[in-house]
Order: sequence, then C-alpha cells, then structure tokens
Amino acid sequence: MGNWENNIRKVIPYTPGEQPDQPDMIKLNTNENPYPPSPMVDKAMRELDPDTMRLYPDPTAGELVNAIAGYYNVKPEQVFVGVGSDDVLAMAFLTYFNSGKPILFPDITYSFYDVWADTFRIPYRQIPLKEDFSIDPEDYKTENGGIIFPNPNAPTGETVPVEAIEDIVRSNPDVVVIIDEAYVDFGTESALPLIEKYDNLLVVQTFSKSRSMAGMRVGFCFGNEKLISFLSDVKYSFNSYTMNRTSIKMGAAAIKDDAYFRKTCRQIIETREWTKKELAKLGFVFGDSKANFVFAKHSSAAASEIFAELRKKHIYVRYFNKPRIDNYLRITIGTQEEMMRLMEALREIVGT
Ligand SMILES: *Cc1c(COP(=O)(O)O)cnc(C)c1O
Repeated sequence: MGNWENNIRKVIPYTPGEQPDQPDMIKLNTNENPYPPSPMVDKAMRELDPDTMRLYPDPTAGELVNAIAGYYNVKPEQVFVGVGSDDVLAMAFLTYFNSGKPILFPDITYSFYDVWADTFRIPYRQIPLKEDFSIDPEDYKTENGGIIFPNPNAPTGETVPVEAIEDIVRSNPDVVVIIDEAYVDFGTESALPLIEKYDNLLVVQTFSKSRSMAGMRVGFCFGNEKLISFLSDVKYSFNSYTMNRTSIKMGAAAIKDDAYFRKTCRQIIETREWTKKELAKLGFVFGDSKANFVFAKHSSAAASEIFAELRKKHIYVRYFNKPRIDNYLRITIGTQEEMMRLMEALREIVGT
C-alpha cells in the first residue's frame, strides 16, 4: 500500500438542505421560491431548439450579462455570471483572497464560507455576531485578508444598513469586501450603487431565491471593471463554458419580466409579515427578518423537537445543530396556503 492518501486535498463538504420528494409535503427548508418562474421563462423554454445543443454556449454568456447590465443600469464589464452564486462566490474566494492573512466573516452565517476557505486553504477568522445577531462594523476594522457576509445575513435574516457597509468598505481599501445579497430583493437596500465609488467591493446576487430559478443555477455579481476582469481571468482558467445555453436564455428571459418579479417578491414579503404575527401568537420569538425566511425559537418547546414533529407531518424546515443557534428553526416563506397549514401543525405541536 502506497502513501497516496498523504497527497489528497481532504475537505469536509458543505451539507445542503435535504431535498425530500413526497407528493403531500410542504417544503420550507431551503429558501426556494414557492412561485414558478416568470411566464416569459416558460415561453422561452418552449422556444428552445435542441439542435443548438451540439454547439458550445457563448463563454461570455453575453445575452445574460447584457440583460442583467441593462436591468441594473451598469456596464456589462461590471457584471460577472456563474452557475448559481455558489459558483460566483467560489471563484471570488479563489481570485480575491490570496494575501495569506485571515479573511473575516460572522460566526453565524452561510455555512459554505468556511468550506470554501478550507478547500482553497485560505485562513479565516469568524467574528461573533452580537447577542441580538447583529453585525458590528467596528469588528471588521482590523487587519484582514478580505471580508464576506450576506446582507440580509443567513440564517438570521438580520440586515446591515448600506451606510454601515460603506463604512466597512471604506475602512478596508487594501482588501476585497464581498456582500452576498442572495435575499436582497425581499426588502433590503442593495450595496450595488457603491461599486461606482469603491473599487474593492463585490456585490453578489442570485436567481435562485427571488427569481424562482434555483434549479437553473444562475448567479451573478457586480463590481468595478478591473475587479471583474480578474474574476473572469480565473474563471476562464478553470472552465470556460460553465453557463449552459438553457440557463443563459432562461436567465435573460426572467430578467425581462420586471412586473412578475415585483409581484411575487411583494407576495412573499406580505406572507412573511403575516407569518411573523402568527408565530408570535404561538409563542415564537425572532428578529425582524427581511429575507424569505424567518429564524425563530420557541419560548418553551425545543427547536429539535418541533423540527422532528413537523417532519412527521411532512413539513420540512431547517434545523442547524450548531452552537448559539441550536434552539432555532429557519422557516422558509412558502405560499399563504402553505404557511396556514404550517400554523395549524405548529398549533398542534406547541399546544396553544
Ligand atoms: C442560497 C444562497 C446562496 C447560493 O445560492 P445559489 O443557488 O448558488 O445562487 C448564496 N449565499 C447565500 C447566503 C444563500 O442563502
């Protein structure tokens, strides 16, 4: 037996939320959108020509990049797209975090950040959130190799005002600051305008949540042209044809239907606020989430038990067995009907 195992890049992989498949289930565990994508996506899907699949896709994903640039009123050179924002973020870690100094992110946050850092051998330091789960910009004014956090944060739903983000970006001119805006469309102000003022800011967004296209794998980001060009260079050194033809076309179609996008986001926000009121009546406590989920704990019942009881009823929410948050449930906002059924189930479980 040789020693080849000594040469392996050993990693502990990210654990995605489970994808159960039962006809009667209510799936509130991975922050997917309960509504279908825009009818324009449906139309574009029907118009696909299978013959084009012989051909490689456009490596620049120009049609999608131009649609995004047009909608957000930036130059195409300030836009980069990837196979979900996970792909965009992984490429960004690889491109921007090379100083050898620890990068900073919150202790309670998207659990892919430490996985990428470990995979790419990037040192990191996790900054504890305040007791109320808020982020203190002052904590990020220390020597570091880069900064990343989501806004709103996941899984807490807590937001950081754009002024505080600007403060962090301004205080860290020698590193790249990444704001992961996966949930920004559900009621948070975007840091996007700041890219015109700061060349060290990357703003990352996705079609997976607010545009109902998690299965299509489309993510994107904005930054200064030079910042984006470095990201593109790394991507082309890794795999030039990451975005497939279908995703490019469906993404471009979705961007064009602004009315539908706004309508479905508004509906989810409305259902979220209703859900908060109902959860409070049942004795749950939670912060003021601005995402498409609520992060809640019950005043007496254990989260692990509520989670297990809901599961028996084929209602899936997310439970993280981790320090500080092991008594919380992250509940995705579904349709109004689904949330009403959730409340019925919760009433039976916590007995109010
Ligand atoms: C969902 C999510 C992502 C990844 O989404 P993609 O489906 O890869 O676009 C990134 N960051 C956060 C905080 C998320 O919640």
